[in-house]
Amino acid sequence: MENKYAIGIDIGGTNIRAAIVSDKGEIIKKIKEKSSGDIIHAIHKSVENLFNENIAGIGFAVAGLIDYQKGSVLISPNLPSIEGEDFVNKLSARFNLPVIIENDANAAAYGELCAGAGRNYSDFVLLTLGTGIGGGIIYNKKLMNVSAEIGHMSINSEGKKCLCGNYGCLESYASARAIISSAIAFLENGRKSILRDWNNNYKKITAEEIFRAAKDGDLLSIEVFKNAGKFLGIGISNIINILSPEAVILTGGLTGAWDIYVKEAITIASERALTYLFKRTKIIKSELTDDAGIIGAAGLVFNRQV
Ligand SMILES: [Zn+2]
Repeated sequence: MENKYAIGIDIGGTNIRAAIVSDKGEIIKKIKEKSSGDIIHAIHKSVENLFNENIAGIGFAVAGLIDYQKGSVLISPNLPSIEGEDFVNKLSARFNLPVIIENDANAAAYGELCAGAGRNYSDFVLLTLGTGIGGGIIYNKKLMNVSAEIGHMSINSEGKKCLCGNYGCLESYASARAIISSAIAFLENGRKSILRDWNNNYKKITAEEIFRAAKDGDLLSIEVFKNAGKFLGIGISNIINILSPEAVILTGGLTGAWDIYVKEAITIASERALTYLFKRTKIIKSELTDDAGIIGAAGLVFNRQV
């Protein structure tokens, strides 16, 4: 009988979260290990803790650029110690199982397709809206094996320098990092805001604090979120015009600011995208949130194994 379970592992900057996932995308058992210290050891430990004879394979979701041929991570800004490590082939040999590795946003998109907000769509784009911005593209119910670095879509030719080296990237305007830095810039310029009373050192404010202030009517915070939403809307309108997906699914911490940030993005996308294409695209929230990467990475095992 074919095995109906896979291990899905999401390797993040702080934690390694792993689970046994059924072929229907249900999480059966979930564990968490710290990803600080010897990360390869922590990865092996996670697999050993979950392994049993009913496992069909192991799928990894990692933030960064993936070398699919070698089965390794080329570049991972949050996890440099994992770059070039050959843990995929070693685990495959040790457990005699297929082991796959995928970018975390791509895996999350596949997770939403298997068991989340994307299950009723054939074509959609997932955007992860957090410290940075990532993306994954589903086309004809399949994950497109492309980098989908949507956060590095250039939207302002004379714009801010991005961490990637380019100028004017979406991520430099619409991510949590961008929201925080633009609030700090306003505060440095002497703008009035309740954020000054909330935090002795306004250079340490968080995106959550800015959102809370915005909900309390703080004009600076509302402006910062709306401005980020405007750029997100430009990015979404580009996605709609290029790919005409049935849905754009938004996930990540910033979706908590839906009423200010995402609503502004939807308004701007409606004004900028081709009307016919915009009308057939739903802009919706993810359903799986933090588990999407784990479920997607495990799902890819079933999808790819021969
Ligand atoms: Zn960039």
